[in-house]
Amino acid sequence: MSSRTLQQRLADGVVLGAEGYVFELERRGYVKAGPYVPEVVLDEPEALRQLHREFLRAGSDVMVALTYYAHRDKLRDVGRDGDLEEMNRQAVRLAREVAAEGDALVAGNICNTWSYDLADPAGSGRVVRAQYDQQLGWAADEGVDFVIAETNDYVGEALIALEACQALGLPAMVTFASPHPTTTYDGFDFVEACRILADRGAAVVGLNCSRGPETMLPLLERIRAAVDVPVAAQPVPYHTSAAVPAFESLAADDGRRLFPIQLEPFQCTRFEMADFAVRARDVGVDYIGICCGGGPHHVRAMAEALGRRPPAARYSPAMELHPVMGAEPERHEVMGGWEAAS
Ligand code: ZN
Repeated sequence: MSSRTLQQRLADGVVLGAEGYVFELERRGYVKAGPYVPEVVLDEPEALRQLHREFLRAGSDVMVALTYYAHRDKLRDVGRDGDLEEMNRQAVRLAREVAAEGDALVAGNICNTWSYDLADPAGSGRVVRAQYDQQLGWAADEGVDFVIAETNDYVGEALIALEACQALGLPAMVTFASPHPTTTYDGFDFVEACRILADRGAAVVGLNCSRGPETMLPLLERIRAAVDVPVAAQPVPYHTSAAVPAFESLAADDGRRLFPIQLEPFQCTRFEMADFAVRARDVGVDYIGICCGGGPHHVRAMAEALGRRPPAARYSPAMELHPVMGAEPERHEVMGGWEAAS
C-alpha cells in the first residue's frame, strides 16, 4: 500500500496516471491484437514488470494492474478460462511489486465486459456484476489502493462497476469511453453520465480512451463544470478531430479503417501530449493520464510539463548536444520542443 492515498494526492494537486499497457505490449510482441487478452501477465511477467517500471520512471503516480479484458468471457475466447484467477491475482502482484519501488499507488482495473445488454439490463447486469465481483475480490485480496473502472460504454454497466467497488469499500475512479459524438451507448450525454456516477459516490469521474487530446478537452471542460468530485482524463495519443472525434474511426485516404494496429500516421508526439497535460490541468482536470497508444516517452514529457522531474528525466533530450541538430538552432527549436517554445 502506498503511504499516501489517492484522495490525499488529489487534494495536493494533479495525479499523473499512465495506461496503454495492452497496445504497448502488443507492439512489443507480448499481447495478441484482436482478442487483446493480457496473457502476458502469466506468460511473460518480466515484460509487464518492465513496462510498469518504465511508466514509474517516467513519472506515473499509479501502477495499474493489467486486468483489462482479464474477465471470464474474454479468457474463454482464447481458451484460458482455467487461468482466470491466477491472471487477475498475478497482475495485481506485479503492479504492487513495481509500485513499491517508487511509492506509487496500485489500481485494480475493471472495464467494459461486452456482456451488458440493453435488451436485458437486469439479466445481463447480473452476469456483469458477477464478473466484477470475482475480479475485484481477487484484487482486494492481493491489495489495491483504489479501482479504475474504465472504458465504460454504458452508464448502466458503469453503475454496476461502481456498486461492486463500493461493496468492497474500494474508492472508484469511473471513466467513460466516448466513441460516439455526444452520448454513451445507453443514450446519456457524457457530461450527464459523469454527473450520475459522481452523485452515486464515484471518487473520480471522467473519460478515457477513444478520444485524442483535441476532441477530449472540450468535453472535459463541460464535465469539470458539472461535477464536484475530481475529474480524470486519459486520452489516446492520436490526432482525432471534430470530423472524426474518436480513434476507432480514423481512416486512411482511401477510407480503410486504421484502428487498432495501423494508427501510426495519426500518432501524437510527446510534445503534443505534454501540451495536453498542461491544458487539462488548466481546465481543472485532477487525474491526467494516457490510454491506448501511449508510451513511456509521452508520460515523461507530460510529467515534466507538469513541473516534475521523474527518474527518467535524467535522460531527457539535450538536443544542443546533437552533432547535427545542435548546430542548427532553427531545427533545434522544432525538435527540442515545448521547453524551448514556452
Ligand atoms: Zn484505451
